[in-house]
Amino acid sequence: MKSVPFPKLVASSVFTKCVDAKRNGVEKNNLRAVASIVTKASKQYVLKGKKGLLYTLPRQSKIGIIKGKVMENLYTNNLVSNKSKARHLYNELRHSIKHNRCPYCSHRDVSTLDHYLPKAVFPVYAVTPANLVPSCKDCNDCKRTTISKMSDEQFIHPYFDDPDFDVWLVAELTTGNKPSVSYSVKPGTRFSTTVAERICYHFSKLKLNSLYSAQAAVEITAIRLQLERLSDSGGEPEVTNYLAEQFESRSVLGKNNWQTALYLTLSQSHWFCDGGFKLFS
Ligand SMILES: [Zn+2]
Repeated sequence: MKSVPFPKLVASSVFTKCVDAKRNGVEKNNLRAVASIVTKASKQYVLKGKKGLLYTLPRQSKIGIIKGKVMENLYTNNLVSNKSKARHLYNELRHSIKHNRCPYCSHRDVSTLDHYLPKAVFPVYAVTPANLVPSCKDCNDCKRTTISKMSDEQFIHPYFDDPDFDVWLVAELTTGNKPSVSYSVKPGTRFSTTVAERICYHFSKLKLNSLYSAQAAVEITAIRLQLERLSDSGGEPEVTNYLAEQFESRSVLGKNNWQTALYLTLSQSHWFCDGGFKLFS
């Protein structure tokens, strides 16, 4: 999970452009009639988001005179659709992430926009930029049905939260004949209790241990030959130095990147550096 820059697009402008792209005159007029409600709700969303209080926003089945489904369709037909004149706004949001990495898992490619608050339950935010987070399909699917009812059971919001504020991701090495690496959350003391619990919730719900553990196993297998050569030439110190250098290099990806956590743990393991790596296959 990672923070990303807040979208530059203005909520009222996105709504207006999506409505203008509609052909149905009656629906267009009905949507224009609720523009002020949508704009006000968008501002409320940002205020709540900054305070970590999005879970307190009320569910709505109607927005003024229109049904929630109309707002859902506005997103699908007039923001996402390739035929819509407002599609460039979708593209701007969708392609706003550095290296195209999903900010929820920090690993897979962005392939869609996720409604942080689901549009089926919170239709008033269906085209609100602050509620549209570029994400991978897996994270989007995992989040889809989850509605937070408590402050500590909210996903990290990449526009409002900064999970790299302190270290929370730890890689743990299990030694023995069938060694493995697993990941867990141990939030640093600089996080508030609520944010620490939200990180744990996010990590668990999106099954990030499973994702990162599988990647770690592949990574170790890929460097094993190189470690063997280093071990042959300089023994354990050479292997330790290499892994420590890798930790430093990978740190630019973030202090909670799975590779950063992996190399820190490996470089600090006497068992691994002394030949334990040979047991990974
Ligand atoms: Zn993801």
